[in-house]
Amino acid sequence: MAMAVSSTGSSPVPGRGPALGDFPPSNCGTAYVWRFDSTAPGPVLMISAAVHGNEVCGAQAIGALLDSGLNPANGAIILALANPDAYAAYLKGDSVGRYVDQDMNRLWGADMLAQPAIDRETRRCRELLPFLRETDFLVDLHSMTLEGPPLVLTGQMPRARQFAEQLCIGDFLIADTGHAAGLRMRDFGPFSDAQSRQTALLLECGQHQSPQAGAVALRACLRLVGFFGHKIPEKLEKDMQKQLRHGAVQEPPRPPQAVRITDTITVRTEHYRYLGPAAALNIVAEQGTLIARDGDQPITTPYPDCVILMPSMQASPGQTAMRLGRLTG
Ligand SMILES: [Zn+2]
Repeated sequence: MAMAVSSTGSSPVPGRGPALGDFPPSNCGTAYVWRFDSTAPGPVLMISAAVHGNEVCGAQAIGALLDSGLNPANGAIILALANPDAYAAYLKGDSVGRYVDQDMNRLWGADMLAQPAIDRETRRCRELLPFLRETDFLVDLHSMTLEGPPLVLTGQMPRARQFAEQLCIGDFLIADTGHAAGLRMRDFGPFSDAQSRQTALLLECGQHQSPQAGAVALRACLRLVGFFGHKIPEKLEKDMQKQLRHGAVQEPPRPPQAVRITDTITVRTEHYRYLGPAAALNIVAEQGTLIARDGDQPITTPYPDCVILMPSMQASPGQTAMRLGRLTG
């Protein structure tokens, strides 16, 4: 498959992913999903990319994996370009491109999944459901509007945090509760069930247009594949070592910094304004610092050393404005 390459011919172009037509045909009957089975028993791994169409780092990474070929030693590996319609719209020049009809990362609650599939995102969720149901370990690759280090969103299950610590794919591990507007793929049924062993992580690889985001996404894929004893394609391993040497991607700290989300701030009025620093993750030392206004309501940091996570510069009523959290070691 021909990747979108830079003028040096070696690395993906920041903010650009491979064209849809450059991906090989599906090998499992569902468009833009590829499944590689081993004859030996083992866990089913799934890597999901471009749930949000403008977040191309994951598409670059699964493009590279498909180019190199995967040959799992046990179990199975599933790769999915999750929202191909939004991804194609973004590549064609849709200035936002996050979704076509509605945000695909708010549709994974049982209530939403029981609704008739009337638009492109809900239809695509139905196509991906059988794969998610059988997945033992999911890494869902995203990028962010604002600059920031790689962040792993683990949800509430201790097993997800433990897995993230072992994989070591992000600088911060964020134990969060998701969004009021609906469940993410990471939060889907068994991934949030204390009785289940199915485990999901959402990795924010960096800013959408950042040259590092694609390398962070690919490194995460290689860590996942290597962690379960699958052979990493030699070319990808060499490329990754080169990128690490040149500082295009960095090894995350071990252990990563853990953050527990204490508050999810949801926008209430049409007059919401964020006033804090423009970065995906900020630590505000002083309690009571004004960080946003929602109509007449000031929003201040509720405690010292408050982490502001992924603040929205523009958000409408019902959308997440930001999350606040405590550093927990
Ligand atoms: Zn996203």
